[in-house]
Amino acid sequence: MSLTLGRRRELVSQSDIRSMTLECEKRNGVNLAQGVCDLDVPAEVVAGAKQAMDDGFNIYTRYDGLPALREAVADKQKRFTGVEVDPENEVVVGIGATGAFYAAAMALTDPGDEVILFEPCYGYHAATLRALDASPVFVPLSPSDWSFSAEDLERAATNRTKAVVVNTPCNPCGKVFSRKELEIIADFAESHDIFVFTDEIYEHFVYDGLEHVSPAALPGMRERTVTISGLSKIFSITGWRIGYLVCDAKWSRAIGYCNDLVYVCGPSPLQMGAAAGLMRLPDSYYRNIAAEHQAKRDRFCRTLQQAGLAPHVPEGAYYVLADLGRLPGATGREKAMRLLEETGVACVPGEAFFRDGAKGRPARFCFAKKDDVLDEACARLLRL
Ligand code: PLP
Repeated sequence: MSLTLGRRRELVSQSDIRSMTLECEKRNGVNLAQGVCDLDVPAEVVAGAKQAMDDGFNIYTRYDGLPALREAVADKQKRFTGVEVDPENEVVVGIGATGAFYAAAMALTDPGDEVILFEPCYGYHAATLRALDASPVFVPLSPSDWSFSAEDLERAATNRTKAVVVNTPCNPCGKVFSRKELEIIADFAESHDIFVFTDEIYEHFVYDGLEHVSPAALPGMRERTVTISGLSKIFSITGWRIGYLVCDAKWSRAIGYCNDLVYVCGPSPLQMGAAAGLMRLPDSYYRNIAAEHQAKRDRFCRTLQQAGLAPHVPEGAYYVLADLGRLPGATGREKAMRLLEETGVACVPGEAFFRDGAKGRPARFCFAKKDDVLDEACARLLRL
């Protein structure tokens, strides 16, 4: 034996997002690389957490979360997706959507299993699967409407396929999967008898009157669907690490035990704050956030167009992929660095989301920023 790092170190090497953030800080630039929403935390959420600390919610919770939050999640699922959920047996509170996805993949996949992901994809999904020795298999979405066909899915399937991952609305491309597309995925999942893991953390960030459809709401899909979401984005509490998943009682106990093994439980008073937000905020809170972000999207995409960085206008989430083709550089990273050097605006190069991320692939900008920050980013980009 020798003192060496394990092979998993490669999965957690410095991400493009972190390295662009560091480069941006060195230059005192505007960081549109990180997906952090700059809005204020709703007062109900903060008050709920403070009250919970005073009320003694400071010790471990049950492995799958406090009843108040599980009930609030079940209520919210019914309200926004129409799916009836049993809060006692079908909800697991996780350490963010990230922890929920990890616990689900740990409980439901084996080493050697294949899991289908759409590309461009959110890097944590692929890395989590690899960390558990499952293999991501990619189905490319074709720009610029990010479409796919039933045949594309069939080509990716083998007898080792265990699940397909959906991320709607999608980070990074902003695709909102239509009901029709989800029906294709549902037929595919049923015919191969596989799970659907659906990450819906941006479920409320949907624009242009489009509808967020939750795959679990499609006929016959409830049993095989694990719905993952969280409060990081919608309540601007990325640092609180509160997320959850909803699934059939057949899977929730094993997933909850994996959650217990890796994290024990979510922070107790913060679970109460999240529950207070879910129970007390009216529907207009969510509608206003969507409207505000649609306005930010429109403003930022107009600027990208004027700066000669053609945007793929997103339907949802709060990122936009834009073409850096006019900038010099042999790779996406070099082009993104060039943009940072010339304008002081940081983005994430295409390598983070596409396997062949080099030249020709678009870079990702996050537009969920306070208006003055977005103004500054727009002014800088227009100097290009
Ligand atoms: N899922 C997706 C698709 C994301 O883009 C992000 C954050 O950027 C997360 C999950 C992380 O969510 P959480 O903070 O709840 O772990």
